[in-house]
Amino acid sequence: MVSRPTTSISDAPTPLNECECSDIGFRSVPRDEVLCRLHALLTANADNDRMVGVVLVEINQYQRILGTYGYRFSATLSKAVAKRLTEQLPAKVVVIPVALSEFVILLPDLKIRQQLGLAINKIRQIVFPLFSVLGSSFRVSVTVGASYSIDKDISPPELMRQADNALLHAHDSRLSQCIHDEIDVDESEIPFLALQLDLERALAQNEITSVFQPKVDIHTGRVVGVESLVRWTSPQFGFVRPDLIIATAERAGLINELTFNTLNNAILQYQRWGEHGVPIAVNLSAEVIDDPALMRFIGRRNIWGMPVEALTLEITETAFMENPERAMEVFTEFRDMGIKLSMDDFGTGYSSFEYLKNIPIQEIKIDRAFIDNMRHDRKDHLIVQTIAELAKGLGLRVIAEGVEDEETYHLAMEAGCDVVQGYFISRPLGPDDFVEWLKADEWYRPA
Ligand code: C2E
Ligand code: CA
Ligand code: CA
Repeated sequence: MVSRPTTSISDAPTPLNECECSDIGFRSVPRDEVLCRLHALLTANADNDRMVGVVLVEINQYQRILGTYGYRFSATLSKAVAKRLTEQLPAKVVVIPVALSEFVILLPDLKIRQQLGLAINKIRQIVFPLFSVLGSSFRVSVTVGASYSIDKDISPPELMRQADNALLHAHDSRLSQCIHDEIDVDESEIPFLALQLDLERALAQNEITSVFQPKVDIHTGRVVGVESLVRWTSPQFGFVRPDLIIATAERAGLINELTFNTLNNAILQYQRWGEHGVPIAVNLSAEVIDDPALMRFIGRRNIWGMPVEALTLEITETAFMENPERAMEVFTEFRDMGIKLSMDDFGTGYSSFEYLKNIPIQEIKIDRAFIDNMRHDRKDHLIVQTIAELAKGLGLRVIAEGVEDEETYHLAMEAGCDVVQGYFISRPLGPDDFVEWLKADEWYRPA
């Protein structure tokens, strides 16, 4: 799920008198110097199979912070961000402030690409807790753009350019982060306004469809449900990636409508499947959990041709943490209606065990970054095992998502996961293909 970046201010400080602005000690490093350091790291890796990652971290709405609270407050905040990143990232990682609002982080020896994704998650976790700035508490959110030296001969300026481009793409697409190789060349050409207009039209004309990806019991191989995933091929732009659909809908204020559309598709599909009907999970953006119309819609059980118990709502851990108190209230109401709730992308956000203890969910989905990495790194296996143990201790069902091969399936089983989802079981399927797939009875069953 894409969450809209926000910079929120709690316990708002009063604007400061600029005359107080003594030496705050924030020093930005010129780009030339960054390139030199990058050059040194690339050279050090010339004879091994390690890659260098470049992560640009930008504080969201920095201009607003500056304009509202002045330089002294803003520079003190930037210094605190740099300090926390430097202290909490491993010593070999290089953190360089290049502007008040921007940091370059160099990751010297990546073995595989997934490590870059995990490092970005770590960076987010580090900046998430409140900062204490001149006596006020302040929450910072960041946008991240990244690249890595998959091409051994890449020059430092080109690697930096790729990271800059990824950051730009994240901004344009309203994503909170982007790695350069995720940018679809054609997609980066799509003008937002045109896409928004076309999406609006597509929603009105019922052009947005859903595909369904099976979730299976890890021990019996029995299908326990499906996750509904949005699909849209625009006549104007061709296939539009789901992440971009959601980001565009959120930015254009169309996300509620898109969610209703998805829920309707799910209900309709469940009815059409008849005897083949299985529980359906629908993803919810952070934006919609506060929408009273959604509550009313879901609350009108009598129009449902689908038992309310067959619906699961998935919300990401990050979305939950954007407004945990409100999410808690809404979730409680949903739970009281009999709807199941699932915490998606678990492990990537900054969640507190306090919430995990009290939140009325029935299931967690361990993010595929951990699942995918289990094959390469025992530590990831241990993380999955620990999460699974904790979750099961709390009475939750544990799903491993993004299982792509047999080895990972077995590792997930060993780690104590209950359910698996991923390309190894099946890619997301159209409604008819799903029934065929079910009938063919050829999904994997462990020996
Ligand atoms: P998600 O909720 O984490 O959904 C799982 C994504 O992982 C899907 O991508 C799915 O196709 C992909 N996937 C499944 N198995 C594997 C695997 O074994 N390997 C790999 N590499 N990927 C796998 P998709 O369909 O592109 O959706 C991307 C994201 O877009 C979703 O992530 C979800 O956050 C969002 N999304 C999709 N449909 C909806 C929707 O109807 N509403 C909202 N709010 N968000 C949606
Ligand atoms: Ca999901
Ligand atoms: Ca997920």
